[in-house]
Amino acid sequence: MSLKIVVCVKQVPVSNNLKIDPNTKNLIRSGEIGVMNPYDKNAIEEALRLKDEWGGEITLLSMGPSNFEMTLREGLAMGCDEAILLSSRKFGGADTLATGYVLSQAIKQLGDVDLVLFGRQSVDADTSQVGPIVSEFLDWPQITFVSELDGPINQMMTATRLLENMQQKIEFQLPAVVTIRKELNEPRYPTPRNIQQSYRKTIRVWDETSLSVDEERIGLKGSPTVVRDVWAPEKVAKETIALKGSPDEAVRELLIQLKASNLL
Ligand SMILES: Cc1cc2nc3c(=O)[nH]c(=O)nc-3n(C[C@H](O)[C@H](O)[C@H](O)COP(=O)(O)OP(=O)(O)OC[C@H]3O[C@@H](n4cnc5c(N)ncnc54)[C@H](O)[C@@H]3O)c2cc1C
Repeated sequence: MSLKIVVCVKQVPVSNNLKIDPNTKNLIRSGEIGVMNPYDKNAIEEALRLKDEWGGEITLLSMGPSNFEMTLREGLAMGCDEAILLSSRKFGGADTLATGYVLSQAIKQLGDVDLVLFGRQSVDADTSQVGPIVSEFLDWPQITFVSELDGPINQMMTATRLLENMQQKIEFQLPAVVTIRKELNEPRYPTPRNIQQSYRKTIRVWDETSLSVDEERIGLKGSPTVVRDVWAPEKVAKETIALKGSPDEAVRELLIQLKASNLL
């Protein structure tokens, strides 16, 4: 069976380049230097492997400002077929719920999608919520933290979920939403030919008028999460005692210090 796969990708700031708006407490994303969320490369790699095996097409989907095109271009250069950027002022300020809602409406609009792949989490907001939220809006099965994926045979796939203290093997029916762990594969590098071809492809840009969306559920309006404050943790320099003398003397002194601090 040939597969119609959507891979959702997010552009994340280069970590030493983060700026927070002091009033809104949101990340300032305009003009930021961004890179593709690293886990999303594993999702793209899995989509490419499935396409190599079964045929089909891969659509990249991202919601964000226009500079997110950089990341979509990188995904096209890895070998994906097309890319759609969901971009509008009205989508701005979205929390995970509003992000998931808009992504799911775009997936519905694409139609006949068999599989939606996500990275396991973003490396900036880190919530791991967007994939599961999209699956709820689509009312499709969700399989998270996947480290092995097999099939499909007769619309059924098998996945291994790698959890903290156990592995879980799950069989599920397509269409489905799967979030991918980095243990699944090694993402490929774009080839010079694919890089060249990626610049010949047009990235479609959809806004709220291109989708069937309830405007109360998008952007800030549709975001029940409120960031009350954002701050960097205070760095506290701990007192350090250097023990002098021979190793024996130092150990004796260490025992005295530990007893004095009621640690022994
Ligand atoms: C109150 C609040 C206000 C916010 N305001 C803004 C804002 O103004 N502007 C802004 O850009 N962000 C804003 N954010 C952050 C934004 O909501 C999250 O970055 C976004 O919802 C994704 O969540 P996450 O990064 O935790 O993704 P996770 O759930 O950790 O990501 C899992 C996977 O979902 C996919 N994914 C995540 N985000 C996207 C996306 N945008 N497009 C496609 N795929 C995606 C990727 O595959 C990723 O690997 C705000 C967050 C909060 C809580």
